[in-house]
Amino acid sequence: MRLETKFFEEGLRILHDESVDDVVSEYMDSAQDESVMLFNIGDMVQKVKNWKLKMPRVKPFYAVKCNPNPTVLKVLAALGTGFDCASKAEMRNIVDLGVNPSRIIYAHTVKPKSHIKEAAALGINTMTFDNESELYKVKSVFPTARLVLRIRCDAKDSQCNLGMKFGANPEEIEPLLATVKALGLNFVGVSFHVGSGCREPHIYYEAIQRARDVFDLANSLGYSPYLLDVGGGFPGNLGTSIDEYAKYINRALQEFFPDDDVHVIAEPGRYIVASAFSLLTSVTAKREVEKKDQRKKMMYYLNDGVYGSFNGILFDHQTPKPIVIGNALDEKKKNIPLFESQIWGPTCDSVDEVIKTEMLPELNVGEWLLWRDMGAYTLPSMTTFNGFPGPNIHLVVPYHTLLLEDILNDKGQAALDKCSPLEPKGNQCDYPKIPSTRNLFEKDQDCHL
Ligand code: PLP
Repeated sequence: MRLETKFFEEGLRILHDESVDDVVSEYMDSAQDESVMLFNIGDMVQKVKNWKLKMPRVKPFYAVKCNPNPTVLKVLAALGTGFDCASKAEMRNIVDLGVNPSRIIYAHTVKPKSHIKEAAALGINTMTFDNESELYKVKSVFPTARLVLRIRCDAKDSQCNLGMKFGANPEEIEPLLATVKALGLNFVGVSFHVGSGCREPHIYYEAIQRARDVFDLANSLGYSPYLLDVGGGFPGNLGTSIDEYAKYINRALQEFFPDDDVHVIAEPGRYIVASAFSLLTSVTAKREVEKKDQRKKMMYYLNDGVYGSFNGILFDHQTPKPIVIGNALDEKKKNIPLFESQIWGPTCDSVDEVIKTEMLPELNVGEWLLWRDMGAYTLPSMTTFNGFPGPNIHLVVPYHTLLLEDILNDKGQAALDKCSPLEPKGNQCDYPKIPSTRNLFEKDQDCHL
């Protein structure tokens, strides 16, 4: 198929009437003894479309760090999203895909000089800052850069707090803007990041209100800021929704930034990719470590662990949950007993613990477990410690997402319309075939930051 050979080096499986779960067994068989990451492209396309429906004024600039899988980036580029890059390698990567530099924000407040120079060379003009030393660096190598002040406004309840490292505190804002002015630099807007995996949608309202104050201060200094960047933090797992987040953001924009002359962007990472990736792992070995009456305690060793796809346990406070599939699931249906089970990764290190304790039916060597929501902050921070490779990545796409063909033939924005506006059911992306007639993305792919 044209689509397959032209764009997806990793190969592509098109799902017709089957769901992702229906084809899991094929991947289990083909995977031999390596783990498998199933990337459901339809899920990601649906997320982008849902974003546009819920927050039409906020343009998503995908946070590349979250999952820079080449297909993720290519499909998003074709859908017309922008990108948040944090280093020269990320910026180069996105520009090499043919993305106009106006669709990229260099969203790192701490930048090596050579990376700032690379941004200038690539034509990526917009970048964030939150400290004075950064301003002197920018002055010396890219004095015309468009500067966005990242302010601090933390959610109390989030998976990863970022404010402890980034974001100007209220008392730092005025002196920073004064330095921008004294150095003759170009101030264009305000950004924030409330924390990754934010569980307090209302915090965006407060952060946008604070951004308004900074806009007013900048106006009084003679600047005309035009960019508001509401950062990341949106949930992306199955069963989560951005509706509440959209409610607070849309309301705050209406109150504090009613005019369309302020461009509003966001830097979602987790939201875009988390649920699109499911991991399949198999049991390489097992040990029975305790036996008292019927109460055995089991230890299982998988073909993937915290040095691999489960590194988010260490780096991202993830708490993955296994789903029993295959034979063990059939057994479970027969009401067989569950045993306290501990799950380990494949390396020689005992830090490589995936699950401390979970009640599971007895698993046999060669049986498989499924792990949902494995798309965010998993693949990029993986290692091959001990010589264990990462998972094999397999691309699947539900038939109804065959608009991909359009997407990749440069008709992406119009093609989004062909994807049903309904939420995916479960993880299956099993959308009804109702084409929408609304044009959801503007024709012009440039963002004019
Ligand atoms: N923007 C910046 C500057 C970040 O540091 C991050 C995550 O660390 C993101 C965006 C993406 O955040 P999330 O995945 O929570 O949407």
